[in-house]
Amino acid sequence: MVTVAVGGADIAAEPGGMPFVRAREGLVLAGRGLSADGAWVRVFHMCDGQAWVRATEIAATPHAPDATVGAGFDFGDAVIIVDPGHGGPANTGAVGPGGLAEKGINVEIGARLRALLAESHRIDWQTGQILRGGDIPAAAVVVVTRSGLGELADYEAGLDFRAAVAGAANAHAMVSIHNNAGWEVPTVIPGVDVYYQSQAPVTTESRRLGTLIVEELRRGFVAFEADWVGANELGAKSRISPRDGVSQYYGVLKASVVPTVIVEGAYISNPGEAELLQTPEFQHAYAAAVYRALVRFITTDEPGDAPSSDPEVWDGFAGRGGARPECEIPPQS
Ligand SMILES: [Zn+2]
Repeated sequence: MVTVAVGGADIAAEPGGMPFVRAREGLVLAGRGLSADGAWVRVFHMCDGQAWVRATEIAATPHAPDATVGAGFDFGDAVIIVDPGHGGPANTGAVGPGGLAEKGINVEIGARLRALLAESHRIDWQTGQILRGGDIPAAAVVVVTRSGLGELADYEAGLDFRAAVAGAANAHAMVSIHNNAGWEVPTVIPGVDVYYQSQAPVTTESRRLGTLIVEELRRGFVAFEADWVGANELGAKSRISPRDGVSQYYGVLKASVVPTVIVEGAYISNPGEAELLQTPEFQHAYAAAVYRALVRFITTDEPGDAPSSDPEVWDGFAGRGGARPECEIPPQS
């Protein structure tokens, strides 16, 4: 896992080759080894392609040692990937009333989650309230795949790239932040859905993480007033491609080798929920719920207390997965 240093970094097709772009400082790339002379680092970038970057123009985060999370694991050793879904001009994600785009809301929630993970806290497990300072340390490494805020984060990032970042960091968990559209029915409780991976070796862990997130999001969202909507079957679920009946339907879940979930927190297509999604209070509640679920996932063996259904073949429309040919590495301005 590498981060482009202050001032930017030259990106070339070959080690020592003519740079084709100077990448913007702060961008995250998936590191994949060094050139023979050690002067260049091979990277997989947000446009789902391979390139080379000067070793002097990046900061490298080492691959975490293999470890099993659960009871006894120190949260201070956790490596967590926060992945705000969608991005760039061609991939807005779901669109709500007045053209409200999912891609920007996902970045806001991701930034709040990153901030929570980067400091120590105490959690009142009765109320779910998170207080600053306390026995839960900051996570060791927190990476946001679509780095930056606002306009800076509004660039395309392929699903293979997102998964590659998680793999390069050897993360303990990756959470893709999304919000939903196309609800089926009105619901009495928030219509939270989380998709988990059903392929080995991450099945059990991904499902446990997904179930914990559903539980915590429901708990966090019921404090808000809305005419909730949802799918006919709520909770943690997993979708399998109809092409082979085995592989994951969603690209990021298929490509990721670490426990990964896609969180569909609220329905941006539902006017009441779209309004909530634009408030700091609701965005905080979303991030706080995922944070609590990550703490439970990393430091306990709790299975979670929300409904989860077994994987099912799904032949709906998932949208475009890989980066488009027009995708560009954001340049240093
Ligand atoms: Zn989405």
